[in-house]
Amino acid sequence: MVTKLSIIANTILKQEPIDSSKLAPEKKHGIEAGKELELQSWTTAQHSHIKVVLANPINGKNTWLAFSDHVKILQNDNIVLLETSRTTSVMVKNYTSCSTKGLKGLDRQIIAEMNEIDPNCLVSFEDLNVECGPAVWAYLQLPAKKALAKAIAERGRPMFVNSAYRTIAQQQVLFNHFKAGNCGIAIAAVPPTSNHQSGLAIDINEPNAWKPFLEKHGWKHLGPSDPPHFDFKGSGTRDIRKLAVLAFQRVWNEHNLNDQIEAEGDFGPETQKRLNNSFVEGFGISIAGFRVLRLTQPLMQGEDVRKVQQALLSQGYSLGELGADELYGLVTENAVKKFQQDKGLVVDGLVGPTTREKLGL
Ligand SMILES: [Zn+2]
Repeated sequence: MVTKLSIIANTILKQEPIDSSKLAPEKKHGIEAGKELELQSWTTAQHSHIKVVLANPINGKNTWLAFSDHVKILQNDNIVLLETSRTTSVMVKNYTSCSTKGLKGLDRQIIAEMNEIDPNCLVSFEDLNVECGPAVWAYLQLPAKKALAKAIAERGRPMFVNSAYRTIAQQQVLFNHFKAGNCGIAIAAVPPTSNHQSGLAIDINEPNAWKPFLEKHGWKHLGPSDPPHFDFKGSGTRDIRKLAVLAFQRVWNEHNLNDQIEAEGDFGPETQKRLNNSFVEGFGISIAGFRVLRLTQPLMQGEDVRKVQQALLSQGYSLGELGADELYGLVTENAVKKFQQDKGLVVDGLVGPTTREKLGL
């Protein structure tokens, strides 16, 4: 297996997880977006960093820290980590920003699950001549993308897209803002009824200039009630909105072993409650089939936590009166930190691949 560090934004590799301006020149190394470095191993580290061991040393050192927002880890060209676990978590119901771009972690998990249930139910159109706003998920159903491609090619100009596919998490946030009178949202549909959740709608700049090109290819302008909005009415599409709900229900169940909900694709109050209680950065990141354990609110719970606790106990680390209770709480985190310190690991209280391996799991 070839493991690589892929640089997605110009960044500085560092010897310590502090601001690079405070580091001596030999303790940092600037590197450009697009570069790839072969790795021997990697693990999550504190302050949103990933600790990597390079196959080939830089400045005589193999071990470096990389800021997780600037890099990806690739194993045989598959992305295994896009962002490390963060210590501060916000739930959907407490999300206050008017931009939904902070939800991308959760969105990514929902879209991935949809495509796992129904491969290619949503396809990216970022390869077309488009420019997308920061919160845009550039996904459409395939017939809608094909028609969009024709319209853009005929006009021969880039299209500026402000909204396309909307996950049920984004829609829930917009609905919450609407109910609370925030962000100037005049109307927001309850998930999953918005057209943007069908993978058949776009909001664009210059709607009147685009209208004749889009309408020639099966797209319909909604009109004065919502000028930027177009819907695809051509053939070959299907209703994927229940699929999005089903995908969320499955993702929830996968990560909440003690709070299983019915996964049937209907958006009832039980599902809405769980969606509101989901972390915007997504559920625990899984690496090689294991989720990265860490202290969260609510606490991570399950058989994987119990195994870590039993390994700690068997190596002489106390968990107090609670013992192996399957909950990743403060006592467990402290025992993990002590274990990491004793083994010379990064002391971050996260149970990722390295800590797991040292625990003999
Ligand atoms: Zn719209």
